[in-house]
Amino acid sequence: MEIDENSSRNLSDPQILRDTFYGGYKSVEEIYAFLDQKVAQFPNLVEKIDIGDSWCKANPGSCVLPSPWNGYDLFVLHITNRNIPGPKPVFWADGDIHAREIATPEVVMRMIDYLLNNYDTNADVRWLVDYHDIWLMPEVNPDGHHIVEAGGGGNSPYYYRKNGDNVGGGGCSWPPTAFDHFGVDNNRNFPFKWGCCGGSSGFVCDQTYRGTSAGSDPEDMAIVNKIRALVPDQRGPGDTDPAPITATGVYQNIHTNAAVNLFTWGWTSTQMPNYAETRNIAAHMAAPNAGGNGYPYGSIIEELYPVDGGSIDWAYGELGMAAFSTELGGQDFLPSYSCIDNPGCGSSQGLWPENRGMLLYLAKIARTPYLTSHGPDANTVVTNPPSVPQGVPSQLTASINFAWSNNAFSQNVGAAEYYIDTPPWAGGTAIPMNGTFNSPTVAVNATINTASLSVGRHVIFVRGRGVSDFQGFQTWGPISAAFLDVTGGTENLLKRSLTPDSWRGRDIRHRDAADRCLRRGRPQLRHLQRCLHVRWGGHLWRGYGCQR
Ligand SMILES: [Zn+2]
Repeated sequence: MEIDENSSRNLSDPQILRDTFYGGYKSVEEIYAFLDQKVAQFPNLVEKIDIGDSWCKANPGSCVLPSPWNGYDLFVLHITNRNIPGPKPVFWADGDIHAREIATPEVVMRMIDYLLNNYDTNADVRWLVDYHDIWLMPEVNPDGHHIVEAGGGGNSPYYYRKNGDNVGGGGCSWPPTAFDHFGVDNNRNFPFKWGCCGGSSGFVCDQTYRGTSAGSDPEDMAIVNKIRALVPDQRGPGDTDPAPITATGVYQNIHTNAAVNLFTWGWTSTQMPNYAETRNIAAHMAAPNAGGNGYPYGSIIEELYPVDGGSIDWAYGELGMAAFSTELGGQDFLPSYSCIDNPGCGSSQGLWPENRGMLLYLAKIARTPYLTSHGPDANTVVTNPPSVPQGVPSQLTASINFAWSNNAFSQNVGAAEYYIDTPPWAGGTAIPMNGTFNSPTVAVNATINTASLSVGRHVIFVRGRGVSDFQGFQTWGPISAAFLDVTGGTENLLKRSLTPDSWRGRDIRHRDAADRCLRRGRPQLRHLQRCLHVRWGGHLWRGYGCQR
């Protein structure tokens, strides 16, 4: 028998009891404390932006159920390395637009943690945070979440979906039921095709009540106004106007629990103008052999039912962003908390691990999602060794791959290239990689010359393309990266002075090392006094070297 410290503390500590609910889910207050913690911990990579007020904050004194409160600010966490100037492409993901879908803020918070905690150790995370504007909003609907938390004192959360807007809702059920409660459905209130097409309800107690007018509710307009300021309008006003193939920006509106990757349109069964590319991105989000979540995919109306005034129809319809709405699995709006990170609730991995690859892919392609969807992945990018003395080469290998499930744009790989420190969009120099370019999956390699690289950590960016262009553009896929650490000092000089064929297993002559040190501008003999053992090329070497 052992004491469960966490559970015991929950029983006795009113501070903690107040904060989490239903086995560990964060309350609104705790979600916001989490955001503050990130800002404090990573001040150069994170800022917390207040984009508006919830309905209850905008209407003080109006919210009295379950007990009076006055709403919340609406916060989004902006993640980027602010020491690297923009402009940068936008990836926006948000959660909990439907309050009872309580797994969604948890998954968004884990994405935040993943990007910040791995910045120093994962080269893909490094370049994403350096070069992309990532906006993560775990809690779109804090008023609704506040009501959900109140159910059973937190032990049996309410199946409350909508926001806190109670105008006209006096006749709705209280306590709220899954199908009858006041509030506006924030995902039916966006100012695009609002109430157009039978994809929402005009009855105030219904789950899909659209509100009194397009964009009437502050949670919707806070997102609309912020994203309008971040992403240009790239699509014409007509229903059939496509965004250009080079359009930028990705929007992801996360729900539960249908386990499906949805894209636009929801308001009509007519295919959206950028259908082929959008669908192929969704196929990648799903593909298990490309890090996807394994869910089905399709337009909202194909996979579920008509939706009008929905968020992703707005993001694509008004701005031309590639817009998706993944319904996480979980089998219920209120899955056991352990299913966020661990297998269970119908998820073989847990909801966050199952969807991490999908979210990272969306972040990676945010610069030009439609065009990049025509390109291959760059997988297993490795530098070997990952740490070398200056002047010693490192082998770079990767697999350029179109052959993931249901890739409609698969073709033979035509080329691969890498960049050191400066990626293509920042004016970096492409260095070609070797490979046998005659199939959809090609192993590629290169020898990285480190003679002119500074001592320290470098980012190696790798990408591949297809043999065929699309609409006049080369079909480069998303980048994957690896670190290469270049070391200096003694070991460096010593290794450069070795000649394996003639010197293997023998001492390096003092004289030889001294000559090289002198030639390299370190003329003080005291630098040469250190005897060293160095492992190189599978052998142990002994000799004298320069000491920094
Ligand atoms: Zn939902």
